[in-house]
Formats: sequence, structure tokens, C-alpha cells
Amino acid sequence: MFSPCQIELSEAALRQNIRFLEAQIGSGTRFCSVIKGNAYGHGIETFVPLAERCGVRRFAVFSGDEALRAQRSLTQTSDVLVMGDLDGPAIEWAVESGIGFYVFDRGRLDAAEAAARRVGRRARVHLEVETGLHRTGFDRAELRRVVRRLVEAADVLSVDGVTTHYAGAESVGNYLRIQHQLAAFRETVTWLRAEGVTPPLRHTACSAAALTYPETRMDLVRFGIAHYGFWPSQETRMHWALRNDDESNRRSADPLRRVMRLKSRVMAVKHVPRGEFVGYGTAYLTTRRQTFAAVPVGYFHGFARSLSNLGHVLVCGRRAPVAGLVNMNMMMVDVTDIPAVQSGDEVVIIGRQKRAEITVASFSDMTRFLNYEVLVRLPSDIPRVVVA
Ligand SMILES: *Cc1c(COP(=O)(O)O)cnc(C)c1O
Repeated sequence: MFSPCQIELSEAALRQNIRFLEAQIGSGTRFCSVIKGNAYGHGIETFVPLAERCGVRRFAVFSGDEALRAQRSLTQTSDVLVMGDLDGPAIEWAVESGIGFYVFDRGRLDAAEAAARRVGRRARVHLEVETGLHRTGFDRAELRRVVRRLVEAADVLSVDGVTTHYAGAESVGNYLRIQHQLAAFRETVTWLRAEGVTPPLRHTACSAAALTYPETRMDLVRFGIAHYGFWPSQETRMHWALRNDDESNRRSADPLRRVMRLKSRVMAVKHVPRGEFVGYGTAYLTTRRQTFAAVPVGYFHGFARSLSNLGHVLVCGRRAPVAGLVNMNMMMVDVTDIPAVQSGDEVVIIGRQKRAEITVASFSDMTRFLNYEVLVRLPSDIPRVVVA
């Protein structure tokens, strides 16, 4: 492998996360793996077959291009569901391929029906209803106008699901808004039933909702961040831990295990006398005779430039601070106190090495969504490999 860095995906970690999350939701609720954003940076093409080996048979993506990549990566007869963008020709492709997709306005509903008649196959749609997020979704007035269409066109429209999405279930500050959304969703489902539309899958929960509000789990949970081994927020983790406060939880700190490990290696070792600047400009001045390892990872690889003089990596099982500016393709790390470091040694950017760990959250605690952001910024051309 010629690449300066590599992403390892741990099969054991993914298995454990899925087992844990499935135990939370119980056997009456289906598990759906959300793989938008290149499977949160894990790599769709590598992650999908891995998840299938761990028993997953449902995947959700954001857009048509992701659906195509997911479908091409399948090794089992799994379902793929598009939760967002799907342009004209992609709708026909989706219908033809048996890919499910959200319908949230009249235009897409008509397009789905027309496509289904053209290709002679039923469109598998999930009705997205407005409950208070105010992003996409039918409001009640629109639903009233389309509900007859759903019934009349039942020969070409298979309403597989009814869905909504919460406005931030990972933060207790949104508690009331989420309760209102949940009530609105239930009320809409009851009304739809009365109108003769009975979608078999009611689904509303993402990771945070499923872990915090059991009543949101319904028939299926769309798990994203949690099945990759990250808590949606510290609040979610604390809430879960308090609610499930028994001895086993107190003993084993975290039931989720990070699936991803981003690693590189030491490219060169450099000894620098005291009083010299290291790297571009004056960002780093040596205060004694120091030793640095050049690591061939930079902001091109998703390691934020804002981690200059701030971030850490692991070498020889110990934390080494970033020294000076993060460059496009490399950075220097201070290994003065880790004397054994040699060219070729493994460097871990995200994940464990021996007993040390760099968590994605540790990159910064300033942004709530940083977990998500750091992950999806990892370029898709870094090689992904599965390890046991
Ligand atoms: C991303 C997404 C999810 C998964 O969210 P997580 O917080 O990662 O679990 C679920 N549903 C929708 C509609 C999404 O866009």
C-alpha cells in the first residue's frame, strides 16, 4: 500500500456496537444502518459488506449517488433507503432497482408514480411527515391532498414506511420540541390509518432519540453515529448511563467501541537544537534540544489546520503533541520524550494504540457536532481495510 495513511475498520467493534444497540431496542424493532456521508467517513464500499457480515440488512443514505454506491457494494439482499436527494432520472433508477425513498412533496410523489408506471414496478416510498423540524416533509394540509392518491395508486405505490426526524435529540434543550414532534407524528399516523394508509414501518429515531427516548423507536431505528462507536453527545451518554445505572455499567465504562482507526507512520526523525523554529514561520520554537517525527498526514487528509500546536497523535503507545503548523500533507510531532521512535513506526491519528487512545471528540470540545464533522472530512481515497 503506497498511501501515507490508512483507515482500519474493526469487525469486532462493529459487532459489539450492533449487539449493544439491538439489545437496547429489542427484537420488535428493526435496525437500519445509516451510511450517508461515505458511511460517516468509514467508506461505503468497505463498510457495507462488513455491516452485512455483522447481520445488517437495511441501509439508509442521503442521496442517489450514495444509494448507487451502496447497492453496488451489497453482498446480500439488503434494503437501501434514500432519505434525501433524488433527482429525476435517479427516481426511475430507484424504482427499477427496488430502492426505497422518502416522499415529502407532491412533485416527488407524482414522479414516483409516473416512474413506477413506466418501469412496471411498484415504487417503495416512505412518507415523510412534517412534525416540527421544518426541513422537508408533508404538512397536514398537503397530506390531505395526496392521501387519496396514495390509496388510488396503490397498484404502483407501495407505502413501506412513514417517517420523521427530530430537531436535535442529543440535547436536553430540545426536549419539549421533541415531545411535540412525537405527539404530532403519532397523531398523523392515526389519521393516515383512518384514511386507509397503513405503512408497515413507522420510524423516527436516530441514535440519540433511540438511546434517550425509548418511545421513539417504533418499528425501526436509523442508527448512524452510535453504531460507528460514538455517542451523539456527552448528554446522551450521561442520560443513558444514569438510566441504566447498574453495576455492570459502572464497571465497563463504555458499551460502544470505536470502529475506525486512522493510522500512518513516522516518515522521518529530526533532531533540532534549542532556540530554533520548526516548520513554517514562527509557530514553534524549541526550548531545548528536541526530537521531532515527521508524519505524512496533513489537512489534505482531514487533519484540521486548526489543530496546529494543539492536536496529538500516538507513537509507541504514547501521546505526541503536534509541533507548529499542520501542513497540507504533513505535520511534525514532538517525540523528545519518546526516545525509541524510529522511521517507519506506526502513528495513530484516531483510535487506540496500546493503552492510549485519541478520540475523535478530543480533537476539540468546542463543537457539538464535531464527531460527525471530523469523520466525514476524512477523504474517501484513504484506503479502508477491515481488521478482525
Ligand atoms: C443522519 C440521519 C440519521 C442518523 O443520525 P445519527 O445521529 O447519526 O444516528 C437518522 N435519520 C436521518 C433522517 C438522518 O439524516
